[in-house]
Amino acid sequence: MGKLKAFMEVPRLEAGYRPIHDRIHDFGEVEQTLNSHDRKLQASRCMDCGVPFCHWACPLGNKAPEWNDALCNGDWERAYRLLSQTNDFPEFTGRICPALCEKACVLNLTDHAPTTNRENEAAITEAAWRERYITPHTYERNGKRVAIIGAGPAGLVAANRLNRMGYEVTVFDKQQAAGGLLRYGIPNFKLNKAVIDRRIQLMEQEGIRFEYGVNVDINALPEGYDSYVVATGTPQARDLNIPGRDLKGVHLALELLSYQNRLLTGEVDSKDESAVSCKGKDVLVIGGGDTGSDCIGTAHRQGCKSVTQIEIMPRPVEGPEDPQNPWPNYPRVLKTTSSHEEGCIRRWNINTLEFLGDDKGRLTGVRVQPIEWQPNPDGGRPLMVEASEPEVIKCEVCLLAMGFLKPEMPVMPSNVVVCGDAQSGASLVVRAMASGRDAAIQVIKMQK
Ligand SMILES: Cc1cc2nc3c(=O)[nH]c(=O)nc-3n(C[C@H](O)[C@H](O)[C@H](O)COP(=O)(O)OP(=O)(O)OC[C@H]3O[C@@H](n4cnc5c(N)ncnc54)[C@H](O)[C@@H]3O)c2cc1C
Ligand code: SF4
Repeated sequence: MGKLKAFMEVPRLEAGYRPIHDRIHDFGEVEQTLNSHDRKLQASRCMDCGVPFCHWACPLGNKAPEWNDALCNGDWERAYRLLSQTNDFPEFTGRICPALCEKACVLNLTDHAPTTNRENEAAITEAAWRERYITPHTYERNGKRVAIIGAGPAGLVAANRLNRMGYEVTVFDKQQAAGGLLRYGIPNFKLNKAVIDRRIQLMEQEGIRFEYGVNVDINALPEGYDSYVVATGTPQARDLNIPGRDLKGVHLALELLSYQNRLLTGEVDSKDESAVSCKGKDVLVIGGGDTGSDCIGTAHRQGCKSVTQIEIMPRPVEGPEDPQNPWPNYPRVLKTTSSHEEGCIRRWNINTLEFLGDDKGRLTGVRVQPIEWQPNPDGGRPLMVEASEPEVIKCEVCLLAMGFLKPEMPVMPSNVVVCGDAQSGASLVVRAMASGRDAAIQVIKMQK
């Protein structure tokens, strides 16, 4: 434990976001950092609980009390060594993890001021890169070859772990670069892509081979490998097949997000056929989750006129407490992201009926139906009933952010392991990474 009683004396301090007027015009990361003095003070707040719920809540089992103690005492190198035992890429989770650990922190129980584990994690890892605690290593080879299909967080963790154990690892991805949704989904304002490049470069230096632009048929896996890890994510988004779906201006969320990320790295230019522009337009986002929120931030940075976000489910309870899901579980409360703060009309209990267009086939608005959810007398799913007259929300761009379908996986031979979102359905980076680590353990066990 860093400092006795610090949790009573030092208030929680978040680094916070860059001011809206500053951040809204660029795609740089919105989150700021604390100086190292304040960062160490934040780490000192950790109480090193006898039963660390943070450790239990983190899918990777990160040992937050241990590395918070090292950080509080200024031993950044030890903090990184402890963190990297369980977390292969803390620079990713340190930026974009919803911090399941913090919701479970005992300091969250009393005054909703948990330790700043996620930010501490990012700070430790940036120090480790800066101070060169992270350097390439060579590993003795064991003569076994593994193919990883999919270079998202799940596949990357599996590759990293197996490479360290001496396997000769080749990672195949259909895209032009590694990262999966870290690169082609999550906007740069949450995760700068140089952070991914830096890690991939290290993995290459350590011997992992990457083959890009290869769309692997998972029913005919590449030959010549002892084992396979399939980490292909959830490529199919949930669509909304209602009248007008083919109007110009209706897009799946990832069409916008992926295009914008590619544009920023120069993979495509603004004349590319995949281009989606919200500039000067009224934008409607259908889906109230994180993907929808990323669309809002992207639309703002592209210079949209307005953004509205609608959601079919009721408005979640105001936090920080969630009576249905009390501490130490993750609270399902209303979440206001940096993108929401930048300006957005948010509405709940809205069903979508029809996309409306002009005689040139361009979207002009969406007809929606305000609804209510009523208890089902048979005890099943609540019943959706109309609450008022339908109305039209004017927009020229509509983004469908309604989640992803869980892929149907064929029955695989015994030397194939499926992991990440491909195995669980759409989830979180930290869960995909934990699943990639489990896949690596399974590969090792199957070859013993
Ligand atoms: C817009 C958006 C924002 C998100 N924001 C967050 C967030 O802030 N925090 C968080 O924790 N989670 C977030 N998530 C969820 C998170 O990104 C995913 O849970 C995570 O990336 C899943 O990792 P994965 O490795 O299983 O799959 P993916 O990241 O989807 O990677 C799969 C990889 O497999 C490749 N692939 C697929 N099929 C083939 C094939 N046949 N041959 C070769 N390669 C193939 C793909 O090209 C891709 O690179 C977000 C998701 C989206 C869509
Ligand atoms: S990975 Fe996420 S849940 Fe785990 S310690 Fe880091 S911030 Fe917490």
